[in-house]
Amino acid sequence: PATSLQDIIAHAKEYGFVFPSSEIYDGLQAVYDYGQNGVELKNNLKTLWWKAMTQLHDNVVGIDASIFMHPLTWKASGHVDSFNDPMIDNRDSKKRYRADQLLELKAEEYANAGDEARSTALLQEMGRLLGENDLEGVRNLIIAEGIKDPVSGTDNWTEVRQFNLMFSTQVGSLAEDASLIYLRPETAQGIFVNFLNVQKTGRMKVPFGIAQIGKAFRNEIVARQFTFRMREFEQMEMQFFVRPGTEMEWYERWRDTRMKFHQALGLPAEKLKFHIHEKLAHYANAAVDIEYQFPFGFREMEGIHSRTDFDLKSHQELSRKKQQYFDNDVDPATGKPYGNYIPYVVETSVGADRLFLAVFCNAFTKETVGEGADQKERTYLKLHPALAPIKAAVFPLVRKDGLPEKAEQIVKSLRSEFRVIYEERDAIGKRYTRQDLIGTPFCIAVDYQTLEDDTVTIRYRDTTEQIRVPISELKARISQEVSM
Ligand code: ATP
Repeated sequence: PATSLQDIIAHAKEYGFVFPSSEIYDGLQAVYDYGQNGVELKNNLKTLWWKAMTQLHDNVVGIDASIFMHPLTWKASGHVDSFNDPMIDNRDSKKRYRADQLLELKAEEYANAGDEARSTALLQEMGRLLGENDLEGVRNLIIAEGIKDPVSGTDNWTEVRQFNLMFSTQVGSLAEDASLIYLRPETAQGIFVNFLNVQKTGRMKVPFGIAQIGKAFRNEIVARQFTFRMREFEQMEMQFFVRPGTEMEWYERWRDTRMKFHQALGLPAEKLKFHIHEKLAHYANAAVDIEYQFPFGFREMEGIHSRTDFDLKSHQELSRKKQQYFDNDVDPATGKPYGNYIPYVVETSVGADRLFLAVFCNAFTKETVGEGADQKERTYLKLHPALAPIKAAVFPLVRKDGLPEKAEQIVKSLRSEFRVIYEERDAIGKRYTRQDLIGTPFCIAVDYQTLEDDTVTIRYRDTTEQIRVPISELKARISQEVSM
């Protein structure tokens, strides 16, 4: 049977990957904590992203901006005025929904029943109404489509209201001089406001990029589906500044580069696809999502957007500080330097938590092994060794005769290179199973023969195959497999 999201959530919790936040108080909706294994996997993903974006490009550097920013930032970016979701309540169940999601589900229903035309027409009508901010029209459409609340079964809907997704708080201790500030809903603006700082101090020449990993916050109305949609999450974003007119070329390049990244992590090509946006956000002239096939369907994991000069231009207007770059490359058309301009921006934006969820779902493997009466089910995490929280576990076959000491020596010799653990509890078969469940790619067993000839067995997680190798070869063998 196919893996359900419930299986994933249960496994993530049971093996120390993801816990509900403040669970002893029954949790906090759409907020999660990463456990001892989850944090390692997530850190591995972040490190690989960072390396792929900065170290492997001459012209991309990183920053780490603050979560709090001047409130005008969010005015300039458009978030104060238009970072809204249309919401609707059912008066009987008192449940709140996103009006657009109710209509999208209905459209999906039509499509699944083979009525593509009706599905498309509904989506277009919804797009038109939302575009015109005709909220009464949206409500009428929901009623006309006969959409009922799945909980109460009624269509006793309230009016549709726009709900801003930004969290706010106050800075300053005294009420009179306290002022309202927001928790950033995206990391990108920290890059835009530092564009000239980095360009000047780093003597960067367009085209160049700035990368950042950091927390973002959105007061999502409907927050289900585990870490897919959280109220506090992490983004890995890169803004690439280009000469106006060259943005489509860079957009296509980054789109393909990013797709290759996900495949290199082990996400299979058939579970990834591009979804080109027909309806564009106010700041974009082209946008595509990389979608992954989660247990609940193909959904956005990363967005690649051509953002034009929208952000830098509106920061220039509101701050009254020039956001221009002087390009002294010669324009072959005029024979003169390109001169001053506000660069265009191509952005790549991926949620660390969504990427984590994709990688985790993809790794979760249940297999039937053995024949007849010996048939058993085996569950393991088929993670790329570079992503695994623990790279190797070292086991003494028995807890005597110097085997534990020998095993601990091996751990000590490897642990400055990668995360290696020592484990002596339970029978060896059980120890293998425990490592399978958290995705440890290699188990190293120390036995009596080790004391004679300094060899150990390595057991491979995916094949369960065991081979005998000299201790002196361990570091090189494992290093090779855990690199990408
Ligand atoms: P969605 O349509 O799913 O709400 P979005 O289009 O609003 O996503 P962007 O604003 O483009 O998302 O954000 C870039 C990336 O940040 C997304 O591709 C996603 O991976 C991640 N992201 C956005 N919102 C959340 C969230 N609430 N929880 C986890 N990750 C998120």
